[in-house]
Amino acid sequence: MADKKIPMRQCVACRAHKPKKELIRVVRTPEGEVKVDPTGKANGRGAYCCNSDDCIKKAIKRFPELEVLR
Ligand SMILES: [Zn+2]
Repeated sequence: MADKKIPMRQCVACRAHKPKKELIRVVRTPEGEVKVDPTGKANGRGAYCCNSDDCIKKAIKRFPELEVLR
C-alpha cells in the first residue's frame, strides 16, 4: 500500500498532525530569538506548525513554554 514514508509532525498551535512538508518550522535560536525557519536548517530548537498566520503566531507565542521539541 503506502510504501512512501511521510514524516509527520504535530502543529504546536492546533495540534494537528500533518506531513512535515506542509508545516512551517519555527526555531528558537541559541540567542533566544524565535523565528520562522524556511530552510529547516537553522540552529536551535525547532517546532512545527501549520502554514497559516494563526498557527504561526500561536506557535511563536507558545514556544517558550515548549520543552520537548525535535
Ligand atoms: Zn496548526
